[in-house]
Amino acid sequence: MSLQPTVEWQVNGHCNYDCTYCIQSRQYRTGLPEEETIASLVDGFARLPGTWEIKMSGGEPFAYHGLMKWVLPGLVERTPHHISTLTNFSAPLSVLRRFCELTGARLRITSASLHLEHETLGAFVDKAIAYRALRAEHNPGSSFVVNSVLVPGKVQGQFAVKETLEALGFRVFPQLMKIKGGVFPYTAREVRLIEQLTGGSHDPTKVNRAPSYQGLHCEAGAWYFVVDQRGEAFRCRTGKRLANEDEDAYLGNLAQGTFALRAEGAPCPYPICPCTVPANRGVVRLPPASEAPDEL
Ligand code: SF4
Ligand code: SF4
Repeated sequence: MSLQPTVEWQVNGHCNYDCTYCIQSRQYRTGLPEEETIASLVDGFARLPGTWEIKMSGGEPFAYHGLMKWVLPGLVERTPHHISTLTNFSAPLSVLRRFCELTGARLRITSASLHLEHETLGAFVDKAIAYRALRAEHNPGSSFVVNSVLVPGKVQGQFAVKETLEALGFRVFPQLMKIKGGVFPYTAREVRLIEQLTGGSHDPTKVNRAPSYQGLHCEAGAWYFVVDQRGEAFRCRTGKRLANEDEDAYLGNLAQGTFALRAEGAPCPYPICPCTVPANRGVVRLPPASEAPDEL
């Protein structure tokens, strides 16, 4: 897989949902950056070499008033980069329409997470169909995927979710639930259901099992990084969590001009890669499927 340089930008901490299974604690799910911080971060993105994919997440990026006012105009007008987003898809259709208009040909991937604690499948589907029409008009080169967390005790219900969405032509991406530093210990029965649901696939383009890539060469820090709402930048998500133990994980502050990319990648030092972006952008060099490392 060819390498797609990628930034995961946690634009704001605030989220308008409060899912019981959220990996981010309530304490950290706060914060709405000022216009000046956004401007400095966009300047930082503009200085990156070449064309990157800026994947915006949160919190919930659409719950931030600055998304449409400062973030998108800044990225579109002052950088050459592609734009993707991870969203809980709670934004009204009128806002999604504006998003499609503003991003145009720059929009690459919309990852919409289905949260059945806050939304019915029917309402989600109606909006996804309307959003598909908007993208066909404004962003025909973009793609759409539905993330669905396999909530413990509710895995059985995911069969109906998958069937409904796939029958309508949507791509469904199941995610094993993460808890601090690992994957939730599902019961043996639910492990069997997960295997059935995923067809036993360990392909990171089809399911997020939060595997370990420890020891494999990874370009995180050189061609991939995560940056938070204050501009603090880290090699990757696990690097951010373990930054107190690994001094190589911190890349400086992108908003304050202390940020620097590493000259090259290195073997992955961490026991878990919780997000599939590095694997699916060619950032981590995966072995052939038959030699895939152990997964949790
Ligand atoms: S929508 Fe996402 S970020 Fe918000 S509470 Fe739910 S899981 Fe957490
Ligand atoms: S493989 Fe994943 S966890 Fe390891 S350094 Fe790369 S991005 Fe981080």
